[in-house]
Amino acid sequence: MALETLSPSRAGDFKTCPQLFKFRAIDRLPEPATVYQARGTTAHMALQRLFDRPAAERTPAALYDLFREAWSELRLEEYQGLFESVEDERTWGIESLDLLANYFTIEDPTSFDPLDRELDMLEDLDGITIRGILDRMEEVDGRLVITDYKSGKAPPEQYALPAFFALKIYALLIRRRIGRTPDAIKLIYLNGPTVYEIPVNDAQLEAMDRQLRALWKAINTAIEQENFPPRPGRLCDWCSFQDLCPAFAKPNGEQAAAAAEA
Ligand code: SF4
Repeated sequence: MALETLSPSRAGDFKTCPQLFKFRAIDRLPEPATVYQARGTTAHMALQRLFDRPAAERTPAALYDLFREAWSELRLEEYQGLFESVEDERTWGIESLDLLANYFTIEDPTSFDPLDRELDMLEDLDGITIRGILDRMEEVDGRLVITDYKSGKAPPEQYALPAFFALKIYALLIRRRIGRTPDAIKLIYLNGPTVYEIPVNDAQLEAMDRQLRALWKAINTAIEQENFPPRPGRLCDWCSFQDLCPAFAKPNGEQAAAAAEA
């Protein structure tokens, strides 16, 4: 078996923890839905649909309605039984609308029309095939910017650079697709809220291209050798697979708290 396509998220998984990559991309194990994930998916959908409306109608009230509408679809399709009670779901909904209110403190959606949204990117970069969905691309004062929404909290600024990993890959894909190098990549964190934007240039994208090729090769070697070492770290606290992870296995099968401290 060899790798056919790689998404920016799975590339990030492999970089962070090869074992996590295996659980997700090779074994394709299901992960339990969480209220945070449900909030992120629903908020993304609402923000995408906000730009379907004429500029003057892109108001907070419209965004809240779109969130409710998106949730009424998703709760049946993907998140049935997520909440133990109607009260829990209601509290979650109120917190979610509070989070969405932050969006309007970050930017004014009536002031621009994105060039594209929810772009399905599938590009062959001379022998490696990368696929993913890019949230948004816009032109601001003649600058091409690509943007990703996050419903979580931003990392502190000094640790923010790794968070741009996926967007740098998308910048590379955009350059390949339209022949133009994005001027900047932007992360919008609703929780905070926080915006991080950094410039990109061809030299950075060449470096990302090399990094992606090295990752592709390393993943194929891991597949060939069936060797996906776990790499315990801070992410383990949120990992759905601790129970299955060799780094947390004790001879008696119980979780090894020691691994979490590693
Ligand atoms: S628990 Fe930690 S080491 Fe194990 S797969 Fe998850 S992230 Fe990797």
